[in-house]
Amino acid sequence: MSDVSGPAATLAALNRARQTGGYPFFRRITGQPGPGEVFVEGLRVINAASGDYLGLAADPRVREAAAAAARELGASCSGSPVVIGTWSVHAQLAEELADFLHRPAVLLSTTGYQANLTLACLFGEDRAVIADRHIHASLVDALRLGPAKYRRFRHNAPDHLARLLEEASGQGLSPVVLTEGAFSLGGELAVLPEIADLAGRHGGMLIVDGAHDIGILGPSGRGAGEHLGCEQDIDVLSGTFSKAFGAGGGYLAGSTELIEHCRLLGRATMYSASMPPPTAAAALRALRIIRDEPEQRAVLARLADRLHDGLAEVGYDRPNWASPIVTLPAGDADQCLHTWRVMLEAGVFAAPFLPPAAPTGQSLLRLSVTAAHTEAHIDHILEVVGQLVPTVDTTGVAAAPIPC
Ligand code: PMP
Repeated sequence: MSDVSGPAATLAALNRARQTGGYPFFRRITGQPGPGEVFVEGLRVINAASGDYLGLAADPRVREAAAAAARELGASCSGSPVVIGTWSVHAQLAEELADFLHRPAVLLSTTGYQANLTLACLFGEDRAVIADRHIHASLVDALRLGPAKYRRFRHNAPDHLARLLEEASGQGLSPVVLTEGAFSLGGELAVLPEIADLAGRHGGMLIVDGAHDIGILGPSGRGAGEHLGCEQDIDVLSGTFSKAFGAGGGYLAGSTELIEHCRLLGRATMYSASMPPPTAAAALRALRIIRDEPEQRAVLARLADRLHDGLAEVGYDRPNWASPIVTLPAGDADQCLHTWRVMLEAGVFAAPFLPPAAPTGQSLLRLSVTAAHTEAHIDHILEVVGQLVPTVDTTGVAAAPIPC
């Protein structure tokens, strides 16, 4: 069967873009002229492609924590957390994060991707994992690693989840429900209270990936669960230090029993060297800033609202929170790559998502706001998007499945 809008069409479009100098991936960042900006191979642009939501990656206190740890402890642990990779800085980070998230225990991993792969050890044969269709690739890979049967429910659709939970119960399997707090591609929130209620009624375990909401959402920054008033119904939280924390690494947080299980049976973490000490020290310093300085979250929310206000004027739906992620439907892969390039040349560095990372036939451009941006940056983004709107298709994005 010919593939007119899937991965093969994406590769063909990327090849065409390469020939005209518009290939978007692996572009070299050659410097940071100022907060919220980068040089992309010498071209000065607003960085609207980064997950450094609070601008902490460049914060002098976070930089200095990393530098001091590099001087005192060196650049690597050179071993897995089980034997040689748990240093005092890692223990301190795990302890303070557990305290911040109001969870008894935390496991640290070297990336957020690995933290999610580690979840596979919870997906035994006696389980049925039921996952939102739009979960991140790292969670999909965890599903593929475990022996549990898995099904996907329609994005944010509790009625479909309820049906799959019934089926799992009918088969005598113990359910695990898997979703994200704020979704990585569109920034929309999961309907967590409904999902938590259903999981609870079926005696299921609820796992929520908070990569795009922990640190920036909720009165204390504990994420979508705190914001929506259902955090105690979440059994395991996964997260990353590479976004709001401006560092690197990932984690799982939950009960002492579950986390100990993951520590001793989670292959993705056990068999890989620990976070390098400078990275752990940076994450720890960032955690203290997130905990002690709620005003950073307020700055981000104000800038995100400014972007949503402006986009609403040109016909985009407002999200139900000050999401720092805005995703513009951008037609097929060729149209998306063209628009990406026009935006770059107009000074805005966006992130293109093409099938299979986006729904088949519907490529996307993702813009991310960070607290490092200024109002002038947001206004410039709005001006550029405003000029492009007639070429951007605004229909159908939320309904389409992402097949990865
Ligand atoms: N979960 C989600 C929802 C993500 O968006 C990402 C990264 N894009 C990850 C996990 C992986 O995090 P990391 O980049 O730290 O490996």
